[in-house]
Amino acid sequence: MQSVKTTCPYCGVGCGVVVTPVADGSVEVQGDSDHPANYGRLCSKGSALAETIDLDGRLLYPEIRGARVDWSTALTVVAEGFSRIIREHGPDAVALYVSGQLLTEDYYVANKFVKGFIGTANIDTNSRLCMASSVAGHKRAFGADTVPGNYADLEQANLIVLVGSNTAWCHPVIFQRITHAKNQNPDLKIVVIDPRRTQTCDIADLHLPLKPGTDTLLFNGLLAYLHGNGDSNPYFINAHTEGRDAALQAATSSAPSVESVALSCGLKETDVALFYRWFSGTEKVVSAYSQGVNQSSSGTDKVNAIINCHLLTGRIGRPGMGPFSITGQPNAMGGREVGGLANQLAAHMDLENAAHRAIVQNFWKSPVIADKAGLKAVDMFKAIGDGRIKAVWIIATNPVDSLPDADQARKALQTCELVVVSDCIRNTDTAAHAHILLPALAWGEKDGTVTNSERRISRQRPFLAPPGEAKADWWMVAEVAKRMGFAGAFDYGSAAQVFAEHAALSSMNNAGSRDFDIGGLALLGNAGYDTLSPVQWPVTPQQPQGTERLFGNGRFYTPTGKARFIAITPRPPVHATDVEFPFVLNTGRVRDQWHTMTRTGKSPRLSAHITEPYAELHPEDAARVGVKEGALARINSRWGKMAVRVKITPDQLRGSIFVPIHWTDQFASR
Ligand code: SF4
Repeated sequence: MQSVKTTCPYCGVGCGVVVTPVADGSVEVQGDSDHPANYGRLCSKGSALAETIDLDGRLLYPEIRGARVDWSTALTVVAEGFSRIIREHGPDAVALYVSGQLLTEDYYVANKFVKGFIGTANIDTNSRLCMASSVAGHKRAFGADTVPGNYADLEQANLIVLVGSNTAWCHPVIFQRITHAKNQNPDLKIVVIDPRRTQTCDIADLHLPLKPGTDTLLFNGLLAYLHGNGDSNPYFINAHTEGRDAALQAATSSAPSVESVALSCGLKETDVALFYRWFSGTEKVVSAYSQGVNQSSSGTDKVNAIINCHLLTGRIGRPGMGPFSITGQPNAMGGREVGGLANQLAAHMDLENAAHRAIVQNFWKSPVIADKAGLKAVDMFKAIGDGRIKAVWIIATNPVDSLPDADQARKALQTCELVVVSDCIRNTDTAAHAHILLPALAWGEKDGTVTNSERRISRQRPFLAPPGEAKADWWMVAEVAKRMGFAGAFDYGSAAQVFAEHAALSSMNNAGSRDFDIGGLALLGNAGYDTLSPVQWPVTPQQPQGTERLFGNGRFYTPTGKARFIAITPRPPVHATDVEFPFVLNTGRVRDQWHTMTRTGKSPRLSAHITEPYAELHPEDAARVGVKEGALARINSRWGKMAVRVKITPDQLRGSIFVPIHWTDQFASR
């Protein structure tokens, strides 16, 4: 009946939880008061975790074409299928599509298998959809995918700018921390930049309901304003940055005045002016942004438009300030650390960098190393659809629901020669297309680590026995790799062993040249790994307790050591509205569901919050198209159609419709 400290499996806040078994076989879940992400707080989803751990709907045994088989048979068929296709068509004919739900250890082994032993970079993750724009923006500006600050900065700031983030529903414990900080500090101002008036606006001093896709104009305008107003930090700019003039030129030509910005963004001029004045007059500013910035055809530019303003004012790397990407998934950050994206190598090293490739290949003692970017999520499923990729292994994700063009993903899998799906749930819309199903451990059974939005590595510890024949994802990949002839490199006995290797690789030939270094954790051993306390990377011999903030010394990871301003030319969304499609469809989460509802959908309490999918429309738009509150509406886009309940609300911007992302074929017929 001992309590176990672990981490919530949902969002990128990464809250610590304490799970206590109860005599009747159930468990109690409480917030971990010692965990620095949440200090005991939980949101509705975290509080309901105990209601979601039953075995209903679980995939418990390996299956081939619907028939139960033993593990050895399943793994051998996967290995032989991948080997044959590689022999006949080359390594680029196979792919892995993985997930921000995976633990770092799973991710590490999958990435090593694909890039170092199969010899392709065709591994990408659903984090691509979530925050690859931030990775690219960070690398452009900082030379590395570095989140400079931490959650405590939100509490030390005097201005928090929340961009494209319904924090109240999507990162609720961060919202609780901000609300608490606002109650403590009357000087703290909150600006919310979002086309919708969401619950997050309840604590906002200013809400800017900008037209979708105009964020770069707003921040270009801010950059020009700050420069014109004398808010630049000349010492920081000269000593620690490059490229300011080009960025300023692009900003002033695209957003020459507050008036022009207000007009282009569909905002009141007085509101834009007030936001700019607050930003100008406040040293401690955190600009926290989320999927409203990242999930966009110009997401990377939005990220850099925000970062530019922090570089101009030198507001980065010190307490209470900085740009801050809040990740969506529990281990999106861990996936980035191991190189889980198709255009990354392991440990924040670069595929295009020959020296980095040599470090990784020597360390892995691998026969090959991928030397060019693989296919990214959307392109990967296009390649599956047109037959360039003939075998795909989908791990812990549901692309038939979650990819932007989900119907294309479904069709692609229907024609694919070999589809392997590892999941803990038996009947997902993606599992329906699998030739081979492999049962994975779920939260509460898995053992490993995750990294949250503030670079904090925490343990996920098991408190339940593995059900049926479910296995760890890293184990499955290692077993397939062994059967493909790579036994020596995948002979892991535990998650701790995988983590030790990952940590050791991060410090190879590093000596401060790369941001991601957790060499200080390489020698933890099993006992140290079991008792590992939450810690923020880098963790090095010089910083054994981890690192709260980076860039305080003005040193960045570019070749010159200087941060780069990026000149941003605003671009409208790729598909503008027209007569046939007069609305912008905006998507997001609701408070009490997670992704495709495979876990949260089990809790009646959570499902009671919002019981069915819906579309929010502004009253004028509803009148224009002739729909009433509570009616069913059919919504068509260039990509698909759905039938949903109508909610009419002035919180919705005119010309824009909001629908939540969660409901799938399993939970709603259309
Ligand atoms: Fe879990 Fe996120 Fe809620 Fe924390 S805020 S309890 S990590 S869902």
